[in-house]
Amino acid sequence: MDGINLNTFLIQIRGIGPRFITKLKKLKIETVRDLLWHFPVRYEDFSKIYKIDELIPHQEATVQGVIQEITGRRAWRRNLYLVEALISDDSGSIRAVWFNQPYIKNILRPGKLANFSGKVTASSDDLYLSNPTYELINEHFHHETRHTGRIVPIYPETKGLTSKGFRYLIQPILENIEPIIEIIPEEIWERQGLPEINTALRHIHFPDDFNDALTAKKRFAFEDLFFLQLFNINERLKLAKEKALAIPTDIEEIKKLIATLPFELTISQKKTLWEIVKDLEKSHPMNRLLQGDVGSGKTIIAALAALTVARNGEQTAFMAPTEILARQHYQTLTKFFPQFDNGIALLTSSESKISYGHNLETTLSKPRLINQITSGKIKIIVGTHALIQKGVAFHNLALVIVDEQHRFGVRQRATLVKDTHTVPHLLSMSATPIPRTLSLTLFGDLDLSLITELPKDRKPIVTKIVSSVNRDKTYDFIREQIKKGRQAFVICPHIQPPTDDPQFDEAEFLKLDLKNVTEEYHKLSHTIFPDLNVAMLHGKLKPKEKERIMREFLEKKFGVLVATSVIEVGVDVPNATIMMIEGADRFGLAQIYQFRGRVGRGEHQSYCFLFTDSSSKTTQSRLKSIIEAKNGFELAEKDLMLRGPGEFLGEAQTGIPDLAMKAIQNPELVKNAREAASSIIKTDPSLKRHSLIKERIEEFKKRVHLE
Ligand code: ADP
Ligand code: MG
Repeated sequence: MDGINLNTFLIQIRGIGPRFITKLKKLKIETVRDLLWHFPVRYEDFSKIYKIDELIPHQEATVQGVIQEITGRRAWRRNLYLVEALISDDSGSIRAVWFNQPYIKNILRPGKLANFSGKVTASSDDLYLSNPTYELINEHFHHETRHTGRIVPIYPETKGLTSKGFRYLIQPILENIEPIIEIIPEEIWERQGLPEINTALRHIHFPDDFNDALTAKKRFAFEDLFFLQLFNINERLKLAKEKALAIPTDIEEIKKLIATLPFELTISQKKTLWEIVKDLEKSHPMNRLLQGDVGSGKTIIAALAALTVARNGEQTAFMAPTEILARQHYQTLTKFFPQFDNGIALLTSSESKISYGHNLETTLSKPRLINQITSGKIKIIVGTHALIQKGVAFHNLALVIVDEQHRFGVRQRATLVKDTHTVPHLLSMSATPIPRTLSLTLFGDLDLSLITELPKDRKPIVTKIVSSVNRDKTYDFIREQIKKGRQAFVICPHIQPPTDDPQFDEAEFLKLDLKNVTEEYHKLSHTIFPDLNVAMLHGKLKPKEKERIMREFLEKKFGVLVATSVIEVGVDVPNATIMMIEGADRFGLAQIYQFRGRVGRGEHQSYCFLFTDSSSKTTQSRLKSIIEAKNGFELAEKDLMLRGPGEFLGEAQTGIPDLAMKAIQNPELVKNAREAASSIIKTDPSLKRHSLIKERIEEFKKRVHLE
């Protein structure tokens, strides 16, 4: 194992066989760095070696002893193979039992000395060790144990790659790797009281005590927060140097536009619109995130911004993640501003058309439509991300609006404009209720505008917590509503097996009364509502399929849509009046709140049913807080305290590693990271003297921008 460094591919290391490589690849682990940054989720303390006669039932313990005898046999259950060993030390002897690991017989031969760590279990007449982890001990050579007799790391696992496997891989690498260069200045670590990189890596995987493990974890969290803050500061500095087209605000014009709307804007809407137009006036690009609950009226605010830009002669690109959403935005714009005759285009893979206001709509071939965009004739272009980013050269694009994708990098924006001297303004919209404290850290490069209230005319959604005894009654009510022509969403909990548990027993887990979508779909369509049309929507479907199902739901082709949380990002179905959430106790409050926002958007009274079989007081009071909440942010804040930030956004969405996400809850650590980051930028604004840090920020940027 010579010359190993962080960039070494695991496949190049002797002793790591192809079987491991294939499994690791599934976890996207290919280099030494990937492997060493696969951190334990927790630890088990096997550091004390007990005497066999000290063991007590239910304890997790390590003993050291000699194998006296070992036998294997098939158990009465045909698919179970048992290996049983008798182990003894100078105090006594104990049985150890393993299930379905016949090869153990060949490793633990009689006479061998080994450590055994595991659970002490009581049978009717004696104690035994159940599925203990074992490690052979060589009496003549001292060597560090990695599975037993110490604090052992437990890793997030997949089928076939156990914590034991990870320890087996990681320990020799840690012992042989070339020293890793620490890229963060020493004085920063010293001030934080945190270990440098080499120590931290050893301690996070093989700590000598829990405190070592804790400070090592803290170090990596701090590091991520530090780069997140550096990234934020850096983006802000960079944007301040870029030029954008300044769009003067014509208050009277905007007031006139607002006066033509069939409703009054809420105070929040007015405030956020003001913040946006004030940003547009500047000759530096806006970078603003507009957050508001589903149905709080973000689209109309974005539309008013687009109109302001159009009145000034410039173009706006309005991008949605799906075709249906693009069409809905297009419809909102054309519906509310029929007097706007400068052309609003819709550009998706299946549609290309322009509306000139007052019901004048023309379908054009895609090339001709794009032509008119390029010539600058059309001012507002609504479409899907992919199409707008790839296919269109704008004439004078001044504003980019993106829906449900928080960031849209400067570089991405710059590619949309021919004129290389300016970068378009960015307005990003999100209905994900992220608590303010969290958004400030996660999206510190963006300015925030919050819509904190719903329009006054909204009928409150009748929200009920339904226990098992009231199930049938509720189903009857739903049926009645659907027969009257309404529609219902049914959300099922997403099943996540506890992969971090080494004793994880799938059969046991499945016994828990959890319903996955397919099951729920079959139950509802065959047993509960055989007389209704039921459809199913889940994350495994292709995007096209999802779109088709949502479109058919919108067209009322069926009455009940059983879905996983994929329907969260949202399509407006005004005729849907029922939101039924199965296993409601398994969701975050903010998430349920967001689901509920999918109904109550039309003229009919809407209902939200929170099904739960849990009668615990905490569940009940948690769910009740949804009924009382004023907005999603409030609930999100509550969720943050109760369940941690992982509940809002995962690494896939933010590019922020889980450790850092958890650490965001620690305001002290965030503050220290911010201070450390700004002190570096202050002394070295372009990071000339910190080239490694600069590189890391670039890497980070790729992750968070998904560029
Ligand atoms: P969001 O994008 O925030 O989920 P939308 O912009 O789609 O919300 O608005 C939801 C619905 O509310 C739309 O039909 C919109 O026309 C309407 N709406 C927006 N603002 C108001 C308001 N101030 N008063 C009444 N209805 C409004
Ligand atoms: Mg919306």
